[in-house]
Amino acid sequence: MIELTAPTDTIVAISTPPGRGGIGIVRLSGADSVSISAQLVRLRQPLEPAHARLADVVGEVGICAEPDVIDEALVTYFEAPHSYTAEDVVEIAAHGSPVILEFLLRRAIALGARLAEPGEFTHRAFVSGRLDLTQAEAVRDLIEAQTLTQARQAASQMGGALSRRVMPVKQSLVELIALLEAGIDFAEDDVDVTPQEEIARQIGALVPSLAALEVSFARGRLVHYGLTLAIVGRPNAGKSSLFNRLAERERAIVTASPGTTRDLVTERISLDGIPLELVDTAGLREGLEEAEQIGIARSREALADADIVLIVLDATEPINEEERLLLAATDGRPALVAMNKSDLIANGRSRSNLDAEGLRSVGVIETSALTGEGIEELRARILRLATGGAAAEPGLLTNLRQHQAVTSTMEALADAALANENSIPHEMILLDLYRALWALDSLTGQTTPDDILNLIFSTFCIGK
Ligand code: GDP
Repeated sequence: MIELTAPTDTIVAISTPPGRGGIGIVRLSGADSVSISAQLVRLRQPLEPAHARLADVVGEVGICAEPDVIDEALVTYFEAPHSYTAEDVVEIAAHGSPVILEFLLRRAIALGARLAEPGEFTHRAFVSGRLDLTQAEAVRDLIEAQTLTQARQAASQMGGALSRRVMPVKQSLVELIALLEAGIDFAEDDVDVTPQEEIARQIGALVPSLAALEVSFARGRLVHYGLTLAIVGRPNAGKSSLFNRLAERERAIVTASPGTTRDLVTERISLDGIPLELVDTAGLREGLEEAEQIGIARSREALADADIVLIVLDATEPINEEERLLLAATDGRPALVAMNKSDLIANGRSRSNLDAEGLRSVGVIETSALTGEGIEELRARILRLATGGAAAEPGLLTNLRQHQAVTSTMEALADAALANENSIPHEMILLDLYRALWALDSLTGQTTPDDILNLIFSTFCIGK
């Protein structure tokens, strides 16, 4: 667990991923970084802030009683406060051999450094005030990004986009609190008591910005967490073929999801930068065999879990009872209907099929997994349904913690507005306003309790 008081010791970690690579970096942060690194490597020139210096990494005393050179490294010194942590930081870029890096790590510890906890470098940046909590979270999100859109969102937050959006709201809230406090403190000195309507107006003026922020979570969450699309329909309708069509363009650039859920075929793709988990379900027909029944049960579960359901119908077959039930079951849920195998249908026939079933109003997309017809349209429709048309704007809320902070602020403000409406004394209104301020400040980490902070930083990787 990270010490939450101001740090005094020097920490060290291997900041590059485990395994072999061209370069591997050992990073030190703290007051003794410079003195420890001077003993750790043989510098060819003295360290100078923001300059890289060549150095020899020397091993244990060798056969000739001289320490052997075991690597050549580049050493960069970032002088406090102009470093990532705002402390003295030294980065030793050696060759990426675990043997060398672990040797450097062990030596640094022997020389007085302490092995860093996960996220401890970023935590120090937070404690020093160089980063606020939303920016620190963005560092982790950036490292974990699986799509460029996720990276872009994280980088924008790391640059303070969310904090900048919150700042004016906080400023106005503080001014309102000061106004009411003054009315109480100087009540006997002829300071005018703020009229009820003025308080209502000022509270009301805070709401639109907070509401916009709250709504932004729809898009922020989507980019951050992604969504699940279940593909359902009768056997042979073309589910797997459509699945492959949707997956093919992006497959090369995304990581495979670890394992499949409940034996269903799943694949993670990126749809316009939004991570989308495709779940290809077994057919939904009422099977008689036990194995089929299990498959059907799993499909139903996948259906229940999915954010969006894609129902695949076979354009060459009339809609059957089961498909009718399926359409009814997804009524009111985000769902799309693909009328597949459009290539086999003479123009007009599938359309009459749609009309006969009253499906036209649902917005059916005619597709052919064989020729690719309608696939782009299908992608676009999935995206529209997922985002609800929410725009990609800077300063979105991207995780539940942030969302919770904003909703708590809004709740406290609503309480304050109600208290004001009921002519409750200003002392009591102030309690609600302070609660709103506390919640808003927790967004940027100013009032976040230590155990929550620990939880957040423990999700970082070591060396960051
Ligand atoms: P699933 O059982 O629903 O997953 O269906 P599959 O994707 O396995 O497809 C069943 C059969 O229909 C296969 O032989 C596919 O090649 C064929 N198929 C799928 N989509 C289309 C399409 O759009 N047009 C045509 N002509 N055949 C298709």
